[in-house]
Amino acid sequence: SNMLELQGVTKHYNAGKPNEVQVLNGVDLTVKKGEVVALVAPSGAGKSTLLHIAGMLDTARSGRVVIDGTDVTGLDDTARTAMRRGQVGFIYQFHHLLPEFSALENIVLPQLANGVSQRDAEARALKLLTSVGVEARADHRPAAMSGGEQQRVAFCRALANRPALLLADEPTGNLDPATSDRVFEALMKVARDEGLAALIATHNMELAGKMDRVLRLDNGVLVPAT
Ligand code: ADP
Ligand code: ADP
Repeated sequence: SNMLELQGVTKHYNAGKPNEVQVLNGVDLTVKKGEVVALVAPSGAGKSTLLHIAGMLDTARSGRVVIDGTDVTGLDDTARTAMRRGQVGFIYQFHHLLPEFSALENIVLPQLANGVSQRDAEARALKLLTSVGVEARADHRPAAMSGGEQQRVAFCRALANRPALLLADEPTGNLDPATSDRVFEALMKVARDEGLAALIATHNMELAGKMDRVLRLDNGVLVPAT
């Protein structure tokens, strides 16, 4: 089944002004459950814009966005926020973990906010930490972990509330190649285990090549990368 569908999505910035820029020019995309898709393009091509529209953080000028069968294009802000909290996990280049909380707490807190019990939230957090190999860091604060460990914890947090869709913007961008590989392997494993649909923007062609499909953003449209 399709977890994410974009149809004819366009986006301009500074519309009607001299500095108008058309970033997306009719983007069509389908990501199925369990599929991990790489999004590659040079800096400034519109990857972040596309991820933000797919994740309902921004709106398209025209076109349709369908998440897990729901057309979210016309939803108001309240409905979009509810949908985002329930269905979408985000990972960025820099992890944004809460510094005063442990790894475990960082994964528990979003679940408590979603109405999950402390006990179930901790069980899920530990399961996720174990699946990416950082369970030994459960009680450590982010500052006491390596960059690769922090980023694996950030994956776990993004997945805490069982989103249908994972959106990642250069998730291994600030890691050295070996660490980046390890973090990526962890991401792929969790994505498979959880049956996630994932769209991952990266500059790293080697990592992109390990995903199910590689798409390039070229003049505002998506084309298969060769
Ligand atoms: P990427 O993620 O591929 O680097 P972005 O989606 O961040 O690309 O940006 C695409 C283009 O849109 C760039 O030229 C950028 O300067 C421009 N842009 C992004 N956000 C804004 C904004 N809020 N206002 C105006 N221009 C923007
Ligand atoms: P909460 O208040 O529970 O964090 P939000 O609706 O603010 O929920 O955010 C839901 C998800 O979207 C979170 O993963 C959050 O990190 C991300 N998010 C919210 N606003 C932005 C933004 N402006 N840019 C990037 N990510 C955002």
